[in-house]
Amino acid sequence: MIPPFALARPASVSEAIATFADAGQDAAWYAGGTELLQVMKMGLARFGTLIDLKGLPELRGIAVDASGALVIGGAVTHREIERSSIVGRELPGLVGLEAHVANVRVRNQGTIGGNLCFAEPHSDPATFLLACDAHVELWGAGGARELPIDGFFLEPFVTARTPDEILLAIVIPKAAAGEGRAYEKAKFRERPAVSVAVRLRVAGDAIVEAVVAVGSMTDIPVRVPEAGTALAGAPADPSALGAPLAAGAEAMAELDAVGDLDGSADFKRHLAGVLLRSATRAALSEAIARA
Ligand SMILES: Cc1cc2nc3c(=O)[nH]c(=O)nc-3n(C[C@H](O)[C@H](O)[C@H](O)COP(=O)(O)OP(=O)(O)OC[C@H]3O[C@@H](n4cnc5c(N)ncnc54)[C@H](O)[C@@H]3O)c2cc1C
Repeated sequence: MIPPFALARPASVSEAIATFADAGQDAAWYAGGTELLQVMKMGLARFGTLIDLKGLPELRGIAVDASGALVIGGAVTHREIERSSIVGRELPGLVGLEAHVANVRVRNQGTIGGNLCFAEPHSDPATFLLACDAHVELWGAGGARELPIDGFFLEPFVTARTPDEILLAIVIPKAAAGEGRAYEKAKFRERPAVSVAVRLRVAGDAIVEAVVAVGSMTDIPVRVPEAGTALAGAPADPSALGAPLAAGAEAMAELDAVGDLDGSADFKRHLAGVLLRSATRAALSEAIARA
């Protein structure tokens, strides 16, 4: 049973922030409720006031800003992202990712902002957005600020957001010429077992820059700079990536992996190496098409 609570439905972000200030520690932001209502039901958290963010226009849109960056509102659902032609054009890897989040019921209800703010370590978008160099826009009693996703996740279920801050939007930079971004995961149950995201850029016949992120393997999703370094300088030829991919897999095997119901730490390290190969090839193919 969920203990009784009041539901506030503000009409604007400033009204939402004022409502939060009035309710203080007893309030929580509420979007799809797919995580929040579960933890309340289990008695792990108790709030007297839930402040519904779904009706706030500031959190609802998907657009491309003047710099060409893709801007996704914090209350946009997984399903809306999956079906968005703008996302399909600007960041096709995110559409593919979203189509495999949870099940259609959770995707219809759950939002991208709720996913990132809950900071469950088995998050699909978190890992991809980390490789894509995204940042989040926050707004709270102290005003607005931006935080890179790299640094947003502090520990499982803990982020750098303060409780009074609303995640307004996620901003993903436009892909540069010759840049490709891809995400691959292994999944045995509802959430990912291990996932790898790769962003790389090709110039001429070489990979000149690469960023690798891994999720569901360590406490929080992390970048693996040594894996990116191993790929940078490699030929932009999928058949000539054996040694760089082996070096990248070795770097991932050094991570402090955490075993869970999906497999042991060693199994996860192995999976990460396998996924690095497929994610790199997919990113390379997109990069060559954009060059
Ligand atoms: C059965 C199941 C399977 C799942 N499988 C996957 C999977 O395969 N991959 C994956 O990535 N995820 C998976 N998830 C997680 C799912 O993506 C999240 O549950 C969902 O996105 C959370 O969004 P929500 O809107 O429901 O958040 P809520 O439950 O409403 O909120 C979650 C938390 O975030 C806070 N919050 C919400 N929105 C904001 C905001 N805009 N600003 C500030 N704080 C906010 C709330 O206060 C709360 O603390 C699964 C979940 C379930 C239940």
